[in-house]
Amino acid sequence: MCGIVAYVGQKEALPVIIKGLKRLEYRGYDSAGVALLNESGLSIYKKKGKVSELEAHLDTFSSLNSKIGIGHTRWATHGEPNDVNAHPHYSASEKFAMIHNGIIENYEVLKTDLQNKGYVFHSETDSEVFIKFIEDIHRNNDCSLEEAVRLALHKVVGAYAIVIMNIEEPDTLIAARKGSPLVIGVGEDEYFLASDATPIIEYTNKVIYLDDYEIAVIRQNQLQIKTIENVETHPYINQLEMELEAIEKGGYDHFMLKEIYEQPRSIADCMRGRLDASSGRLVVGGLRDYMNKFQNAQRIIITACGTSWHAGLVAEYLFEEFARIPVEVEYASEFRYRNPVLNENDFVIAISQSGETADTLAAIELAKSKGATIFGVCNVVGSSIARATHAGSYTHAGPEIGVASTKAFTAQISVLTLMALKLGYQRGMIAETRYMELLHELETIPGKVERALQLNEQLIKIAEIYKDARNFLYLGRGYNFPVALEGALKLKEISYIHAEGYPAAEMKHGPIALIDEEMPVVFIATKDSSYEKVVSNIQEVKARKGKIIAVVTEGDTTVKNMADHVIEVPSTEEAFVPLISVVPLQLLSYHIAVMRGCNVDQPRNLAKSVTVE
Ligand code: GLU
Repeated sequence: MCGIVAYVGQKEALPVIIKGLKRLEYRGYDSAGVALLNESGLSIYKKKGKVSELEAHLDTFSSLNSKIGIGHTRWATHGEPNDVNAHPHYSASEKFAMIHNGIIENYEVLKTDLQNKGYVFHSETDSEVFIKFIEDIHRNNDCSLEEAVRLALHKVVGAYAIVIMNIEEPDTLIAARKGSPLVIGVGEDEYFLASDATPIIEYTNKVIYLDDYEIAVIRQNQLQIKTIENVETHPYINQLEMELEAIEKGGYDHFMLKEIYEQPRSIADCMRGRLDASSGRLVVGGLRDYMNKFQNAQRIIITACGTSWHAGLVAEYLFEEFARIPVEVEYASEFRYRNPVLNENDFVIAISQSGETADTLAAIELAKSKGATIFGVCNVVGSSIARATHAGSYTHAGPEIGVASTKAFTAQISVLTLMALKLGYQRGMIAETRYMELLHELETIPGKVERALQLNEQLIKIAEIYKDARNFLYLGRGYNFPVALEGALKLKEISYIHAEGYPAAEMKHGPIALIDEEMPVVFIATKDSSYEKVVSNIQEVKARKGKIIAVVTEGDTTVKNMADHVIEVPSTEEAFVPLISVVPLQLLSYHIAVMRGCNVDQPRNLAKSVTVE
């Protein structure tokens, strides 16, 4: 993962880079570092920990003036998080400095070769091997650095986004990518480079998405991009529509809380221009050219990781109920290595907030090679998955900075719901009147999510009671089963409390053994087709003295008499319940994590954009 930023132009590079790294910290925060070039040479400053620690370290140096620089915030893959393993890394002569996002899979072989030639390594990273390998080629071939990079890229296996500075060309940055993202910001007499557009947006809205196997040579007022086959390309300049305020906290204590509260708007944004219930209009633009394939698919395969996988599970219920096409939901990391049976009649939907998830990208390539049609559901515009798929729909949730996904999850479900309804209707599986009823109800969801957010005070009180629990169980059935999984994941990732999500009826096949008076059990027990069954499951937990926290439909009295706490959410169609019932679970996790003193936006060991396998 990791975030990279670079700058060349008229400005002081350091403030641009530090600010950019802070925006990218969600991608990794094990260490941070910068390399700057001025009259005194090429200098690297780096520190274990967050960007703020690097900043404090930099305060001890007087002159750091430089109009060119590179910066990195790391999510360690090779070697523990410490000062030495932090990026940038020098080449052996210290003439080059490099930042790297990704993994070089054949680094051990390269390292051994280089060691045999006398190279000495200071860090445990694959990245240090990479830059020394480039320098070795540069020396042996007596070629330019650009040429050396090109030759090296033919030999390295793995994923990378790199930016290199060279003391002998003090006005030049060399960048390249394969598998890891890299965006170039085009300003007036200046260029920016970053892992995503957030460090760039306040300076320019013109960006170029570098493609895999491309090398960019960038000077203050000159940009040249070539493929690794040395063929010059003519990049397309995209206009970004992102607003700066969308990537700032806007008065909230944490990005996660802001993003939870943005959901009424993000769900509405996702439906805007796609759904108009009064005229019965439902358009999913990305599907237009592939509707035939979609409608006639023999099978829908959904592939994703983490929270996106949970959105995929909700979609399994949606597609099977409304469109009557069999669905399989696969962890991308398992799917890609399983030699799955796939053919051209399969319609594969890949879901990823960042659009950079390495396992999901690999699953897409595999499915493509077997002839399947691939549809992407991503949040980040211009991301690798958005470009690798045949077609797709953006979730339009806006930048999600908190590492624990909230608004991206509900936006993913919103897009998938629109797709399921469209497909079901086109296939003649939903009668006209029912279809209209569903569209009208769907339009009410943002308002109902708004009402669910008003439960915040109640959730703070519940969080206070259970913040010291060591375990939690989350149980739901049907559409609420994936919500139970998502609730448990949210709690685990930000509060470090062990939590498990289960289909409520499965409890008696194992987890029930865990229940005693110490165990909080969160039931998602809204009024739906399995409500009566869930009520029985609640009784079973109560009989064993478990503490019951139940998310129920407004006005419910049955569960109220059994549960220790009831959280009442507005009623809706069964198929749309996850969009609402997940909200109190997000808030509960958030408040518990804050009360435990955890770093909510940047939980330990995690990073948001998982660009490594
Ligand atoms: N593999 C490199 C390292 O461990 C880069 C990791 C990253 O992308 O942050 O330092």
